[in-house]
Amino acid sequence: MTHENRRLATRLIHGGVPSPRHQGAVAGPIFQSATFEYGGEGDYHDLKYIRLNNTPNHVTLAKKLAALEGGEAALVAASGMAAITTSLFAVLRAGDHVLFQDCLYGGTHDFVHTDLPALGVEVGTIDGRAPRTWDAAVRPSTRAVYFETLSNPLIGMPDLAAGVAFARRHGLVSMIDNTFPSPINFRPPELGFDLSLHSCTKYLNGHSDIVAGAVIGRAELVEAVRRKLNHLGGSLDPHACFLLERGMKTLVVRMRQHNESALRLARALEAHPAVTRVHYPGLESHPDHARAAELLDGFGGMLSFELEGEREAADRLLRGLTIPIVAPSLGGVETLITLPATTSHVGMDPDERRRMGIGDGLVRVSVGLEDPEDLVEDFERALASLARVTPVARA
Ligand SMILES: *Cc1c(COP(=O)(O)O)cnc(C)c1O
Repeated sequence: MTHENRRLATRLIHGGVPSPRHQGAVAGPIFQSATFEYGGEGDYHDLKYIRLNNTPNHVTLAKKLAALEGGEAALVAASGMAAITTSLFAVLRAGDHVLFQDCLYGGTHDFVHTDLPALGVEVGTIDGRAPRTWDAAVRPSTRAVYFETLSNPLIGMPDLAAGVAFARRHGLVSMIDNTFPSPINFRPPELGFDLSLHSCTKYLNGHSDIVAGAVIGRAELVEAVRRKLNHLGGSLDPHACFLLERGMKTLVVRMRQHNESALRLARALEAHPAVTRVHYPGLESHPDHARAAELLDGFGGMLSFELEGEREAADRLLRGLTIPIVAPSLGGVETLITLPATTSHVGMDPDERRRMGIGDGLVRVSVGLEDPEDLVEDFERALASLARVTPVARA
């Protein structure tokens, strides 16, 4: 049995490691060499060179990532956006039409709605929760459909099983951004997705100290993305490869704790009188709870909530908390907190933002690995101080 066929935690640690190990090193060394001696390669893409994504550090990570999600192949990229944009460039050409779910990560949203049309690609939008409306959006030129497993910042989940069936029925390439659940909570290739995309900046690396991306999926598609990436140049530096590999080794234990702590905090917030709504797919009150419970192995570390008193209360809460750091990004060991209306979604028309359910007082939390009881106490103390200044009137 190879390590790639073992259980998830074993695959994470031993998957992709060459046998025998480089010089016997238990931790894979950093191959900080731009170029490698010519070995008779017959294809440009096989020359060993950092930009060509094929140094020993790249190869180990690619094999580990493929094994992790049950994909045929994988690659790493310089950032999540490099992985996403390069994959779209590899799949689409001028004249093609492509469908995206309605609520997308901000960087992806901008790229899709400004850069793709400028290059002659036609873009359509579908409601991820309403699969019966999707067929009507398909055209003869439709080439791909793109989802996010869990959306930002309301942590909604599209009907992914219907998404795979829809793509097969119409011969479309199915693509999904699986950053939020990480491969521990969800593995898109197992459900039938063609390409699974990640910002490894988040949970996969898990320490908020590098930017990286990954593409996992069907071999011929990953190879097409790799060739495109080789030309566009969004390759990951070997030192960042080393840090990503080191971070990934603890992903199972980190995710287990993220899942547990976020559920603990979500329940405490839901029970608090100053909190009007909590968005976390692990709560029975979340509209996508049933679907998430069926498809995910854990609900993840991301949640958001709304306060009595909206924006002003949210600002005061952020000032009152002592553990969470007010900062964008997510998936690291430190708990991070943001107001999406002033950060990730600030560029959006305010009416459109509110229509999507992103109120000015919505607070998003990336629950870190501090002791969950300390986190709950910190939130409860900060919430109590809000009530003292403006007593919350409730029927
Ligand atoms: C952060 C993020 C990205 C972009 O990743 P970078 O590594 O910052 O380029 C894409 N999708 C999602 C869901 C993200 O959270």
